Amino acid sequence: MSEPSVFTRILNREIPAEIVAETDRVFAIQDIAPQAPVHLLVIPKTAEYRDVTELAAADPALLAELVAVAKNLADERCGGQFRLIFNTGANAGQTVFHVHAHVLGGDLEEKSLVG
Ligand code: 5GP
Repeated sequence: MSEPSVFTRILNREIPAEIVAETDRVFAIQDIAPQAPVHLLVIPKTAEYRDVTELAAADPALLAELVAVAKNLADERCGGQFRLIFNTGANAGQTVFHVHAHVLGGDLEEKSLVG
């Protein structure tokens, strides 16, 4: 067995983080190193999918639920306008191999992509 991901450890309350939304299958936290005025991570509770391609192939309903949670958070926090980013692969900037979406919002004029 591999080590639990940082996100599983947050979900299990082993690492502190503010959980800003939660459903049966998805949770969301503030990114510890925000790259925009609003920078949240929306994460399936299961760690079985490494990236969005695996998630989309295996459980598209869970991917849709993740997008719905992202939309709700963006509606609350940045007027429903946001970037949804899935870094996919180490060369693309992915550092945690437990699929997660970055929700970026606020004034993004000066910002480039996460990674
Ligand atoms: P990735 O680089 O895999 O696309 O995104 C991983 C994200 O997780 C990064 O933006 C990083 O700042 C965030 N992150 C890593 N460790 C922690 C942590 O312990 N707490 C929180 N809240 N975010 C974390």
